[in-house]
Amino acid sequence: MSIYDSLDSINEELRKCMKCGNCQAVCPIYKETRQEVGAARGKISLLEFFLSGEIEMTKGLADRFSLCTTCMACNNNCPCGVRFDKIILGARAEAVRKKGLHPVKKIAFTALKMQRLFDLGMKTGSIFQGVALKNIPNRYSKLARMRVDIGIGKNKVFPMLPNKTLRSELPEVNTVKNPKMRVAFFTGCMINYFYTDMGRAMVEVLAENDIEVVIPKDQGCCGIPASVNGDVDSARILAKRNLRAFDKMGADALVVACSSCGSAWKHVFGDLLENDPEFKGLADIWAEKSYDISEFLIHKIPFKKEGLGKVSRKVTYHDPCHLNRGAGVNKEPREILRSIPGLELIEMKEPGRCCGMAGSFSLVHPDLSLQISDRKTADIAQTNTDTVATGCPACRMQLQSGVENANLDEEVLHTIQILAESYRAGKKEGKSI
Ligand code: SF4
Ligand code: SF4
Repeated sequence: MSIYDSLDSINEELRKCMKCGNCQAVCPIYKETRQEVGAARGKISLLEFFLSGEIEMTKGLADRFSLCTTCMACNNNCPCGVRFDKIILGARAEAVRKKGLHPVKKIAFTALKMQRLFDLGMKTGSIFQGVALKNIPNRYSKLARMRVDIGIGKNKVFPMLPNKTLRSELPEVNTVKNPKMRVAFFTGCMINYFYTDMGRAMVEVLAENDIEVVIPKDQGCCGIPASVNGDVDSARILAKRNLRAFDKMGADALVVACSSCGSAWKHVFGDLLENDPEFKGLADIWAEKSYDISEFLIHKIPFKKEGLGKVSRKVTYHDPCHLNRGAGVNKEPREILRSIPGLELIEMKEPGRCCGMAGSFSLVHPDLSLQISDRKTADIAQTNTDTVATGCPACRMQLQSGVENANLDEEVLHTIQILAESYRAGKKEGKSI
């Protein structure tokens, strides 16, 4: 039985917990709330009460399980090796089995499964976004705030939707002369609908390295928003759709620039489809050849350094939780940044501390998300840099919102965009690869 189907599968994890409280010290939720339920230990105790029959699954209990950014900091600080990431996913799936899914989430995840309709909705949104969003002046990006507070954080800053999605802008096959490899790019929703600049940078950097990039048109949401909110059925449908789409196109490797999408391909699809004889094998094959882009550029090719030009930026790097603790990728983005001529990398305090975005968490708990973000922004301010680099579009959105609200003159970019900038600068400098 998978963690998504029964709480039996997480019993062993629950038994490992000796209630030492070490998880409190690193938990971003506990740091802000100082409530026992914020940390892993509190939620583990609640789950044990539920399993022993002392309490029932109520809306209040389900709400307490929503108090987690799934940052995995507690996993790393636990002397008993408790995998709280598994426990929280199991608890949320149980809450949905017992109490059903919140109607708003139900609508959102249903829309994600209806790809064409979702695309049409986003297209319509890009045309009429000015009705709901008020443009804010920013010299780096088109940003906006909600005109009316609808309960998702009145100060939250969003990127404006571009006119075209990445997948409608770029061809399905991006050819290069004498390709040394064919790589499939899983764009994920954030890059496809919001941050198309990151997607273009991915294709540009891969082309500089003689790699043909395929972007299967039939791909969709990775399903992480559904799986972390306990909607296992929707997550399974989305996982299968993506596996079919990528298998049809075929590729030597799969790359992502989003840490949540990366964890979906590396771990979540396999866990979700554990008992599916048709798709489990396929999930394992693609998990084996999935890479975060920085991991791919350092370990798989490795990327060409001779064409890199000068980029005069003072950069600080924020580690996305699922890339850092989930996939163990933290040296690679720094190695890429350090290889860029003219770039100075200045570390912030605790670069691996969660930024508080965590997908729908920031919408369900906007005030808490903002408090966590404020700490991160204060650490960024201390670095006196002009650029924040990160490895995930969701973190980019949260960091962008934080620096904008603090009036910091910082551009927030994905590492791959800075690398693309360096290749462009190299061409201007007359460097050839
Ligand atoms: S650190 Fe680990 S063992 Fe200690 S209370 Fe937290 S989850 Fe339990
Ligand atoms: S995963 Fe992160 S937010 Fe959730 S309980 Fe653990 S440390 Fe706290």
